Amino acid sequence: MLTFEHQFATLPEPLWVACQPTPVAQPSLIAFNDALAAQLGMQTRPDDATLAQWFSGNQLPPGAEPKALGYAGHQFGNFVPQLGDGRALLLGEVVDQQGERRDVQLKGSGRTPFSRGGDGRSPLGPVLREYLVSEFMAAVGVPTTRALAAVSTGERVVRQMAEPGAILTRVARSHIRVGTFQFAAVRRDEAVLKALADHVIARHYPETANADDPYLALLEAVTARQAALVARWMSLGFIHGVMNTDNCSIAGDTIDYGPCAFMEQFDPQKVFSSIDQGGRYAFNHQPGIAQWNLARFAETLLPLMREEGEAVVEQATEVLRGFTARFGAEQRRLHADKLGLAPESDRAVALMEALETQMHQGRMDMTATFDALTHYAKTLGAQALSTDTPAHSQKEALLALTTQPDGFAAWLADWENAQQASQQSERQEAMRRANPVVTPRNHRIQEVIDAAVEGDFAPFHTLLAAVTQPFDESETARQLAAPATASEQVLRTFC
Ligand code: AMP
Ligand code: MG
Ligand code: MG
Repeated sequence: MLTFEHQFATLPEPLWVACQPTPVAQPSLIAFNDALAAQLGMQTRPDDATLAQWFSGNQLPPGAEPKALGYAGHQFGNFVPQLGDGRALLLGEVVDQQGERRDVQLKGSGRTPFSRGGDGRSPLGPVLREYLVSEFMAAVGVPTTRALAAVSTGERVVRQMAEPGAILTRVARSHIRVGTFQFAAVRRDEAVLKALADHVIARHYPETANADDPYLALLEAVTARQAALVARWMSLGFIHGVMNTDNCSIAGDTIDYGPCAFMEQFDPQKVFSSIDQGGRYAFNHQPGIAQWNLARFAETLLPLMREEGEAVVEQATEVLRGFTARFGAEQRRLHADKLGLAPESDRAVALMEALETQMHQGRMDMTATFDALTHYAKTLGAQALSTDTPAHSQKEALLALTTQPDGFAAWLADWENAQQASQQSERQEAMRRANPVVTPRNHRIQEVIDAAVEGDFAPFHTLLAAVTQPFDESETARQLAAPATASEQVLRTFC
């Protein structure tokens, strides 16, 4: 049983509206995250039929008080004053085993007062994609919303064509976004804005409550989490795809897995999303966009800040500028880990830059490159102890990943030198954890969706098991980890 609380309901009404889910024809449980349920304090697992009733919204779990949350947002740079939960409902909050408050939300549960022209529903495909990718992110330690349950509805939803419908139960540190602040700010009701900001401080950033200016400190704390988050994304080749301000979490979780994808062949300008025609949310634009989103957040906070007039704008600007240094520091640390070098190594920056050039020019698969490099580093480490262990075949495997082996061989020689200079055996564990063997690749997700639409969920469960054990070096893991062949490649993703 989940014990629901409703702190968000203490906030003023424009920020939320009570709303019931719309029942579905035939709810059936696709997946339930037992480990996450246990973390949320669920001691015994109800039967599948009960879980399907609860997490379709047909018969809510005891204590749930569903509400749709209001938010605004900049979508591709254009401000929309009212978006809100058009197809999602917050059931309530649960204090987890670590004492942290987590939101539990149904996504795809029917129309709400914020639905505008939408049907309030989710197709099966995006539900499975979000389940797989968010659970992978959690497994590699990237802050993210989680997937608690997926239920098929027995109904069809119409997108490009009619598809089976599904509902995802999403767990988040909260669903408060930059867009939630914009929603409050655009109303010019300072009491609502202050209530929201104070709620966020108490819930997510209690250490800022006693700062000289808590709202400036809040801006700084959110900036730090976003900088760290986007650095983690970049280190895995993750492209969010829709970094609108309404998809930018105040708690610093990755939220809203729409047309997201992991880069395969390294290309800094890579875009997958079918709706991102201008490349606004391309891979290498992500830090700048996060900073832009934070500037929109800062604007909403200005009326609450202590100093008057220009001084406050200057202070907030200074905090926003700090994003670059925070992002850079986080990225340096991650790059050192990915290369198996000591965190303070000044060679990591130059080596990573040179490797990115190699990966780009040599059309190298990013995940496979770092996995093979990790494997090779381990062999070299063993060789230092017993000189007869050959690293030859690992090196061949690495060189097979590039179309430009000469340049890459030269890079490898530089990297080997840097490796020898660092205490490499100590670095191997960090290197492995920075470089997953498997990522949820587009073509694998597409295979899973195609099978699921035909009623076969076995490939979904197989892929889920693999991406939630992302450092497993077994033969089956490596099979699922393999890059797409030319005919398998999925180059466009959809919301
Ligand atoms: P997203 O692109 O997922 O960030 O969603 C942007 C906005 O569109 C949010 O306000 C969503 O609630 C809303 N939305 C997306 N899909 C639907 C739908 N099928 N029905 C109603 N609202 C939707
Ligand atoms: Mg969204
Ligand atoms: Mg979405």
